[in-house]
Amino acid sequence: MAISQHQRIERLLRAVFGIDALRDGQRRVIDAVLAGRDTLAVMPTGSGKSLCYQLPARLMKKGLTVVVSPLIALMKDQAEKLEEAGIASAAQVNSSLSRSDELDALQAIENAGKNIVFCTPERLAMPEFRELLQQAGVGLLVIDEAHCISQWGHDFRPAYLEIGAALAALGQPQVLALTATATDDVIADIRTQLARPGMRVVNTGVYRPNLQYRVRQVTNPDEKLAALLELVHATPGVGIVYAATVKAAKEACEMLREAGESVTLYHGRLKAAERSGNQELFMNGERRVMVATNAFGMGIDKSDTRFVIHLQVPGSLESYYQESGRAGRDGEDAECTLLYFHDDTRLQKFFLMKSKAPDARHELDREKLERMIGYAQSGFCRWKLLLDYFDDAVPGFERCCRCDNCLSPPVISGEQFEQQQLGDLGLAEVVVGDQYQAGVAVGQARSEGHALEVVDDRQV
Ligand SMILES: [Zn+2]
Repeated sequence: MAISQHQRIERLLRAVFGIDALRDGQRRVIDAVLAGRDTLAVMPTGSGKSLCYQLPARLMKKGLTVVVSPLIALMKDQAEKLEEAGIASAAQVNSSLSRSDELDALQAIENAGKNIVFCTPERLAMPEFRELLQQAGVGLLVIDEAHCISQWGHDFRPAYLEIGAALAALGQPQVLALTATATDDVIADIRTQLARPGMRVVNTGVYRPNLQYRVRQVTNPDEKLAALLELVHATPGVGIVYAATVKAAKEACEMLREAGESVTLYHGRLKAAERSGNQELFMNGERRVMVATNAFGMGIDKSDTRFVIHLQVPGSLESYYQESGRAGRDGEDAECTLLYFHDDTRLQKFFLMKSKAPDARHELDREKLERMIGYAQSGFCRWKLLLDYFDDAVPGFERCCRCDNCLSPPVISGEQFEQQQLGDLGLAEVVVGDQYQAGVAVGQARSEGHALEVVDDRQV
């Protein structure tokens, strides 16, 4: 069910919006809205928040989507963009319209010819307008710049206080509140003013303080499996173990099963029925640990996931952040551990060689891998490294005080420090070494008869 919804979203994204994939934050907001939850999305500026109601507006069968927006200019711009792109038929109702335009807009709403209606909070406070909306039926009420509702906020706007009453008059439709910044006081105020105490907060900034990041260095494959078993034994709750290849996933799953752990397996080469069966075992709690390749995770939200362990270094920090970020979606503490064995980087370099992408793209991918390796080898706060990478400055943030490097700072010499600053020993050395190492990796993969496995699962 979740999969088919996900596929519908993907199709819609490509066909209508011309976008390949949702950002992780957008997806979490859209999932919550489509699940029928009242949602408060705290999204940084420029993170694509309008898509978070445009897409559900297209998918929801019942009722209008009403967007309450504080600025007429903003509203006009949004409505026009939507119309131009043919995404939605939007009406805007505000005081800048001529009387006849206003009548047209109201008429259109009355005939339910429009599926998104933009209005100011002042307009929403008018009984005649509410009555029209009520007749048309409102499925979702979106509150843009929702912090304006709070007297603690820096942009308090009295008309926003009327929204609570409007919700009651409209028969309590579902709510999506959007804001770029919200302190705990403001969040509490929004919930109170809207009389929605159970409103779910989805914070889409990169920083998620409940995730405890760490890297464990290992020096050989046996040590790695032993570390995995130790971690799985020691960590309570549900978890995901990611492997870079089908072979590694099978091996880890088998080892954990033999050690008496409750595990299941997911990769692109399993038959569809087995794949969905195993997924179900994990989702419904019959198995505690899912061992999977990166084929697992699309459209899956198991919010009580307490740990994510990576057996191999992924190809980029984007992949790592996305995969490890499947932990702790419920906001409770969760652990994200990378088991780092330097030889594993050869595998990613092998994937790079195989991709035969255009030169510029290839260079970019190589840089991304270098940044990933840099993260694994760094002595700095893991969160600081992630935030810097994603260019998401959190005001006043110095260190998370919870990652391995914050809890026990590594003792490093001046020379090592300098090398770390230079990145992973500089790109030049890697370029030279790369071809040789990739050659070795290809040879090994062939001699072990699993080159196809490696390539196949990447295509899933
Ligand atoms: Zn830290």
